[in-house]
Amino acid sequence: MSEPDDLLRVEQIAASYNHSIAALHKVSFSLKPGQVRALLGANGAGKTTTLRAVANLLSGQRGAVTSGKIFFDGLNVLELSPSKLVRAGLASVLEGRHVFKSLSIEENLIVGGLARGSRRSELASDLDRIYALFPSLVAKRRISAGLTSGGEQQMVAIGRALMSRPRLLILDEPSMGLAPIIVKSIFETLRSLNRNDGLTILMAEQNAAVALRYADQATVIQNGVDVLSDTAEALRQSDYIKEFYLGSELPFAPKSRTPAPPKTSAASVDHSSIAAE
Ligand code: ATP
Repeated sequence: MSEPDDLLRVEQIAASYNHSIAALHKVSFSLKPGQVRALLGANGAGKTTTLRAVANLLSGQRGAVTSGKIFFDGLNVLELSPSKLVRAGLASVLEGRHVFKSLSIEENLIVGGLARGSRRSELASDLDRIYALFPSLVAKRRISAGLTSGGEQQMVAIGRALMSRPRLLILDEPSMGLAPIIVKSIFETLRSLNRNDGLTILMAEQNAAVALRYADQATVIQNGVDVLSDTAEALRQSDYIKEFYLGSELPFAPKSRTPAPPKTSAASVDHSSIAAE
C-alpha cells in the first residue's frame, strides 16, 4: 500500500468523460522516487485515462476524476493546474507523440523549458543535455519537427518534457508505431535517465514485453480497475501475464477475451514450467 515517502500516490480513482462514459472505476498504485512503473492493459482498459488523471489533464477531454485522490510529492494533484504541476516537477508525454509540427526541433525543445520558466542560460545547458541523450537530433535541430521520422518526433516529445527538469515523467505508449531498434534506443535512454538521474517514470504501454523488461513495477488495468500489481519480474513470470499479455503475436488479446487474473498474487505462482523470455 501507499506510504508517506511515495512520490506519486493514486488512491482509488474513478473517472468519466462527458458525465456519462465511465472510464475508470477503481485504480490505485504508488511510485517511490526513482521507480519505474508500467500500466498494462488492453485497448480501452483505462491506461491513458489514468495518465491524464495523474497530470490533471482530463478536463481538456471533457472528462473528470469523480472520486478518489492523487498526490504528487504531497500535493493534491486535482487542485493544481497542469502548468503548476509541470513547475512542481511532473511532466507528461501524452496524446501520441505530439510535437509542434511547424516549429523546428530546437524550438519544440525550448517550449518545454519555457513551460518551467527556465532562464536563457538554463535553456542552453538543458538543450545540450537533451542532445547528449538523443544525438540524432543534433544535425536536424533546425528542421521542422513535422518533417522528421516517428522515432525522432518521439525523441522530441520526450526531450521537450525533460526540458522542464521533471522528477516524474509520464509517458503514454512510448513504443507505439516505432521500429524495434528505435524502441530499444528510446527505452535505453529512459533507463539511463532513471538510473543515472533518479528520474521516476510512469508509463502506459501495450507492448508488455518491452514494458516489463524496463519497469520495476507494473499494474494491469482491466475495464477501469487495477486487477493486478506486482514487480515487473514477478509479472513477467506469471502464467496469466504470459498467456494474455506476452503470449500472442498481438501485444494484447482483445478486451472481451481477457479474463480476470488469478486470485493468487503473481509472486506466489509456480513459474518453473515457463521458459525465460
Ligand atoms: P488505448 O490503448 O486503446 O488508448 P487505454 O487503456 O489507454 O486504451 P483509455 O483511452 O483510457 O484506454 O479509454 C478508457 C475508456 O474511456 C474507453 O472506453 C474509451 O473509449 C473512453 N475514452 C477515452 N478517451 C475518451 C474521450 N476523450 N472521450 C470519451 N471517452 C473516452
